[in-house]
Amino acid sequence: MNIHEYQSKQILKSYGVVVPNGKAAFSAEEAVAAAQELGSAVCVVKAQIHAGGRGKAGGVKIAKSVDEVKGYASELLGKTLITHQTGPEGKTVNRLLIEEGCDIKKEYYLSFVIDRATSMVVMMGSEEGGMDIEKVAAEMPEKIIKEYIDPLIGLAPFQSKRMAFKMNFDAAVIGQVSKLMTGLYTAFVAKDCSLAEINPLVVTKDDKVMALDAKLNFDDSALYRHPDIAELRDESEEDAKELAAAREGLNYVNLGGDVACMVNGAGLAMATVDIIKHYGGEPANFLDVGGSSTVENIAKAFRIMLEAARLRGFLSISLVASTNATSLPAVSSKRLRSSALRFRLSFASKARM
Ligand code: ADP
Ligand code: MG
Repeated sequence: MNIHEYQSKQILKSYGVVVPNGKAAFSAEEAVAAAQELGSAVCVVKAQIHAGGRGKAGGVKIAKSVDEVKGYASELLGKTLITHQTGPEGKTVNRLLIEEGCDIKKEYYLSFVIDRATSMVVMMGSEEGGMDIEKVAAEMPEKIIKEYIDPLIGLAPFQSKRMAFKMNFDAAVIGQVSKLMTGLYTAFVAKDCSLAEINPLVVTKDDKVMALDAKLNFDDSALYRHPDIAELRDESEEDAKELAAAREGLNYVNLGGDVACMVNGAGLAMATVDIIKHYGGEPANFLDVGGSSTVENIAKAFRIMLEAARLRGFLSISLVASTNATSLPAVSSKRLRSSALRFRLSFASKARM
């Protein structure tokens, strides 16, 4: 689950991460009131959508007066912002963050993610932060520095200091950087995040270290432990079909193509999407109906799938394989004895339904 930048910043602040003072606004009037309350000479008006790349798409405006705040707020609210992360349809701006402008000396990148290969949280950082980090990762991967964190020890102080030195921070700010890294890591673990990303992390001209942008993603499976986070869900940012599917307990991801696919089992669903791609098709969705689906579930899944506008056909695969007694404890013994392998493949065009 994603949340907005201003919400991420509020959470991080409670873990000691320094962020600029700021306030959310849902209207131009609220934006003006927020700017007056902040009272800073320069205010930044930031579109709050669940996507990055806002700076380059005109979603981050620097205002030098309250009048300019009002103008930018009116311009951004209700606007559809298209960034490299929104897809061509873009996202509508319904909320803003009005924040103190800060005098940036240099922009850095810092993030924590789970590395599945090592089963560890990895901290990644770069002195090439700012708006082009994807380019840095693609063209200069050596500029991205990593520290793997032992889950039993946590982020050790020597690791954050080593990282800060490798990222070429001035010696004078290493202590602040190390504190920010520790705060971000503590929040990542405490809130069951799948991603915590600060881009840019900045050093200001008066040598203050702060998170100027913040993105937190949460592990959906752990949300039951965090009702405070679940409450922050903004359904207007989510795909309507994905939401409807989640309510029915189906794993559905919209992929935008024209061949819908319904499969029981996530691995098989991935393989099916690959088959469609291999033969030149474009999958409309990933849909895992699960191993114990009912007639009702399948009917709901069909309904959700068939709502896709561009649909030309659908592909449904179900596979029941029972070859190993220990790996399939829930399968009946009769099935285990027979080691049955059943494979059904059906393809039908929407027109024939
Ligand atoms: P996005 O990642 O969606 O482009 P950011 O929050 O990273 O949005 O903002 C884009 C850029 O705007 C930053 O790299 C920074 O240069 C500038 N910026 C953002 N917030 C502020 C701020 N409070 N003060 C000064 N500049 C800012
Ligand atoms: Mg950013």
